[in-house]
Amino acid sequence: MQENPQINKENVNRFLCENCGANMIFDPQHGQLVCPYCENKKAVEQTGGAIVKKDFYSFLRPDSERLQPMARNAMQVSCETCGATVTFVPPQTAGSCDFCGGKIVAQPKSADPLVAPEGVLPFSVTSQVASSALKGWINSRWFAPNNLKVLAQPDKIGSVYIPYWTFDAETYSQYAGERGEYYYQTEHYKENGETKSRQARHTSWHSASGAASRHFDDLYIPASKSLLPDYVKHLSWEFNELVPYEPAYLAGHKAQTYQVSLEEGFELFKQEANGIIYHDVRRDIGGDEQRVHNINTDYANVTFKHLLLPVYAGAYRYNNRVFQIVVNGRTGEVQGERPYSWLKIGCLVAVTLIMLLIILAIAGASR
Ligand SMILES: [Zn+2]
Ligand SMILES: [Zn+2]
Repeated sequence: MQENPQINKENVNRFLCENCGANMIFDPQHGQLVCPYCENKKAVEQTGGAIVKKDFYSFLRPDSERLQPMARNAMQVSCETCGATVTFVPPQTAGSCDFCGGKIVAQPKSADPLVAPEGVLPFSVTSQVASSALKGWINSRWFAPNNLKVLAQPDKIGSVYIPYWTFDAETYSQYAGERGEYYYQTEHYKENGETKSRQARHTSWHSASGAASRHFDDLYIPASKSLLPDYVKHLSWEFNELVPYEPAYLAGHKAQTYQVSLEEGFELFKQEANGIIYHDVRRDIGGDEQRVHNINTDYANVTFKHLLLPVYAGAYRYNNRVFQIVVNGRTGEVQGERPYSWLKIGCLVAVTLIMLLIILAIAGASR
């Protein structure tokens, strides 16, 4: 379905300042839309209700009419270097990629419809605070190359919402396995010609089968492949602070389009759930040791949410490698990989050697 351009125009106006007509941006410090010119503030209007969990199966049809753009006037652009796609609301632009640092040459186009975000953690850390956290992080690293220091400026890191899926489900698992129970028997053996005895442990196995059920509530699956997995693992979020998604939160920021589809996300959820269920089954089998032969799990009442979580991201090149930096947009926590500047280390080694030679020379001369 083609969007009516007339409607688009109206929706662009949604973020215009009522005082001066400039584009307002979502300001992390105030948690409101703020006009960068006249500082007029406007609360984010909540147009919907609470965060709603969506039924998983009704979204699986590829032609699902439930898909929609993140905002009516949203644009999207893809990075040709790393493949990441970001959505933004004009006049925001995407000149370089926040994830790989590559130049974005493609022309932005109207954003594709997708599973609309349901919840968001709005940015609460300003770009100034994020860049000074980054500066602190860099300064505490010895021998960091100068490229890294250049990155610690507010305009070098982009504010971008990262997509996550979260799933709920009821599971019912039937299993078959064996319960091992320890028993001890006295064994006799010879040592240096003497007969001795000891207690030896044995396991008797009994077949065990049964069922385990569980309610999974909000298991989070990252839907971005652009951040290093290690960073994603360490990003900590207060999910109880989620608010219903509003396009206004996108004003002045970008949002990454999910790279893990809803179906793939559900498969990843099941992998994680199966690991938890496996432990449940072992506990259910009991005994001293367990063998699990098979588990058959039915999933019911599967619901999901698409969430957007805020980070400042930047990347830079050093010795033909891309290094990524991420700052949590809620806590200011920095995650980064750092290269060592061999030039700086080499200089220090050279200076140390020269000093040592001078000291030796002086000591030799004064003898
Ligand atoms: Zn204004
Ligand atoms: Zn890129």
